[in-house]
Amino acid sequence: MNHPLRGLPSVNAIVECPELAGLATTFAHARIVESVRAELDAIRAGAASGNGVPTAVEIASRVAGRLQAEDLPHLRQVINATGIVLHTNLGRAPMAEPAARAAYDAARAYLNLELDLTTGKRSSRQDVLRRYLTTLTGAESATAVNNCAAATVLTLRALAAGREVIVSRGQLIEIGGSFRIPEIMGVSGAALREVGTTNITRARDYEQAIGPQTAALMRIHTSNYRVTGFTESASLEELIALGKKHGLPVIDDVGSGALFDDGSIGFGDEPLIRASIQAGADLVLFSGDKLLGGPQAGLIVGRADLVHRLERDPLMRAFRLDKMTLAALEATLRLYRNEDRIAQEIPILRMLTIPLLELRKRAESLARRLGEIKGLVTSVREELAYVGGGSMPERELRSAVVTVSCQQMGDELLAERLRLGRPALLGRVQDGQLLLDVRTLFPDQNDAVVEALRRAVET
Ligand SMILES: *Cc1c(COP(=O)(O)O)cnc(C)c1O
Repeated sequence: MNHPLRGLPSVNAIVECPELAGLATTFAHARIVESVRAELDAIRAGAASGNGVPTAVEIASRVAGRLQAEDLPHLRQVINATGIVLHTNLGRAPMAEPAARAAYDAARAYLNLELDLTTGKRSSRQDVLRRYLTTLTGAESATAVNNCAAATVLTLRALAAGREVIVSRGQLIEIGGSFRIPEIMGVSGAALREVGTTNITRARDYEQAIGPQTAALMRIHTSNYRVTGFTESASLEELIALGKKHGLPVIDDVGSGALFDDGSIGFGDEPLIRASIQAGADLVLFSGDKLLGGPQAGLIVGRADLVHRLERDPLMRAFRLDKMTLAALEATLRLYRNEDRIAQEIPILRMLTIPLLELRKRAESLARRLGEIKGLVTSVREELAYVGGGSMPERELRSAVVTVSCQQMGDELLAERLRLGRPALLGRVQDGQLLLDVRTLFPDQNDAVVEALRRAVET
């Protein structure tokens, strides 16, 4: 009797099959050999229970399949049909084309990051953005760090470590991802001096708390919630007057804020950075990847002497921007030179301003195409989309969605299959239906959406 394992191909014979030979540039030889050995061990174990012996090509293609499956990159493109424009879990603001290109160019070659090409001398990377930010906000100086959380820590540490910063109890925010003002204060070494109550804080509450220990007054924009009803809070102007009277800097953490507001975007009550500076705020802090629509960054604008102090702090080195982000941020800020074109050039501002009628047209055309897929039933209706990213919580964005239901499977399974696709497609599941909000789709993604649904239904 022939032993069934007699026909088992050798490791070498398997590795030399074209299925695996083609992977030789991707994987180390040792890793391929190890995977083949593991597969052979599994076959030997299976043979004991009567399984047949596969050929070298069969084994090679099995091993190749497994190696490739294990090797898929973790980060992949997601088509955002959730209707949430600044979706933190999906990377917040997709960048404008020139910004993405600038990051790419910065990544793959040398650049004058810290070199003044006119003098040939060393320069500071912090100088790159100063000109744009001072022009756009009217501030004396500006600098940038990794995100607005870092901007807050750096500012508090440089201006107030070992002393007190006065904040209203109505503004002790949590942004999510464990950014809580009291904890951020703790990290910075500044002591939080809370004043007022949740709903009411008056200027005199701040004034009564001012003492020899006070280093600064801070206003924090309640980005992701509103206190409504019987409420009162000290205005920025009142805080600035108090700061002047007592010789204390006023820090204004606006979170997202807006670089301009001519009414065309509908920024609602997002603070205008330029207005804070004009009112006399000493430092204003805001994010690069919220309504600004750029890369993740924390921007700090205000008094030159204070910005200088922040830049000399050792934490600056830990929080500074890398070359790709800096390049993308410069390219984004350059787009702001022309306010009239901003709503076309910056993707998230484009998404926020698409007219409902156009959204309906897009949804109807997408619904028609999806309806041609066997087993799918689609329709179009109006729903609310959201700005997201902890910005403008009360802003209701009327939007158009394609509702999709599938005869072969429930909405949860369909949503899961779409989520696991490449690219992944994310919608909202609501009342037994999958909703695809077209506001957050790029117009050139329709083919990919149709393809994703076809694959999800057919596999
Ligand atoms: C979002 C936000 C932050 C944190 O900004 P990141 O750039 O996400 O670190 C800080 N403060 C306020 C008021 C915010 O809205």
